[in-house]
Amino acid sequence: MKSLADAFEHTLQDVYFAENAITKALPKVIESVSNAELKTALKDHLTETKGQIKTLQAVFKSIGKKASGEKCDAIEGLIKETEGVIKETKGAVARNAAVIGCCQAVEHYEISRYGTLREWAKALGETEAHDLLGEILDQEKAANHKLTHIAVSTINKAGK
Ligand code: ZN
Ligand code: FE
Ligand code: FE
Ligand code: FE
Repeated sequence: MKSLADAFEHTLQDVYFAENAITKALPKVIESVSNAELKTALKDHLTETKGQIKTLQAVFKSIGKKASGEKCDAIEGLIKETEGVIKETKGAVARNAAVIGCCQAVEHYEISRYGTLREWAKALGETEAHDLLGEILDQEKAANHKLTHIAVSTINKAGK
């Protein structure tokens, strides 16, 4: 990894891997929660995530590269932790709250990555990539806000 363009491509491969890993992991997470509003929000975000994979393919295309993923240890760790929390909270009143916490860690990871990628695209003069990455960034921020809303308005009160 020598130039900013290299770093950009590498990190793009990183998030491409991450979105695919999230798509695989989410069905189990959706199944694990009992709150209807949370279930719907996670289902909606799974659909959105599949769209993000398509958008990332367009980003690769815009820089003249083939879409490919490179193992991201960070997302694997966050997913592993989520699976552990699901196991540990079997039958617990706080499961919905605990799972939201895990999902928000993933959203924050994504917000961090896409914020960096979007600004690198701008610095590299890749305006199409900048705009597309900005679209995904906005979706991640909205997903995070929605989870905060669900937690604060209902779930945190139920999990005492
Ligand atoms: Zn990496
Ligand atoms: Fe995402
Ligand atoms: Fe990574
Ligand atoms: Fe997300």
